[in-house]
Amino acid sequence: MDVAGILQQNLTDVRNQMDSALRRSGRAADAVRLVAVTKYARLEWVRELIALGVRDLGESRPQQLVERAEQLDTDLRWHLTGPLQRNKARRTLPYCSLIHSIDSLRLLERLEVLAGELNLSPQLLLQVNISGEEAKQGFTPEELRSAATQLARLQQVQVAGLMTMAPHTSRPEETRPVFRGLRELRDELADQLQGRWPLTELSMGMSSDFAVAIEEGATMVRVGSALFDGLEQPATGENH
Ligand SMILES: *Cc1c(COP(=O)(O)O)cnc(C)c1O
Repeated sequence: MDVAGILQQNLTDVRNQMDSALRRSGRAADAVRLVAVTKYARLEWVRELIALGVRDLGESRPQQLVERAEQLDTDLRWHLTGPLQRNKARRTLPYCSLIHSIDSLRLLERLEVLAGELNLSPQLLLQVNISGEEAKQGFTPEELRSAATQLARLQQVQVAGLMTMAPHTSRPEETRPVFRGLRELRDELADQLQGRWPLTELSMGMSSDFAVAIEEGATMVRVGSALFDGLEQPATGENH
């Protein structure tokens, strides 16, 4: 099979698994959005995905997101899934449809000011370290609970919801408590915020665990390697 055929097959498989998970959990067929994470994908593969109808693309490095956003169609939605250094924010912000990886109040406050200067209303997700692993980025649940006042005060940036990453495991079922934990934290925070930010979006689930995340209420899954299965990945750094 050629590259287009492999991508089409993988995309169909992922979509079918998403549909089954939605059905199993009694959720609407359009309740979850697929974000294709292209950080390790060659540009030609990304072009093929776009030709296959994919419109939501995720990159973990701001620089690669900006480069690709400039090279590709303008009707795409770019999702930043990795850390945003404060000194890269001005250049990156105009290209992002959604930033999944807000991990500190300092960054939030910087973006609030910057968005005002640029006259933008960027959509953001707060990344939460639910699993408590030391290496994981993100707010602790406790930090978010005590940040409600600051969150409620934001005007320019739009806090759309929460994001988390589950620990790596070969048994997807083990990720369920993490995804459930994010949903419960969302419910709690939305209550605390009294409607200021309904926090409707839950970005959770990757190639190995997106079905479990959907069963636990994900509204966006971030899928990379499952889409590129069977294709030869370029070495890091050679992919643009
Ligand atoms: C790389 C990455 C993904 C995609 O991971 P796969 O396991 O390749 O599907 C999703 N979310 C984040 C934050 C990532 O960095």
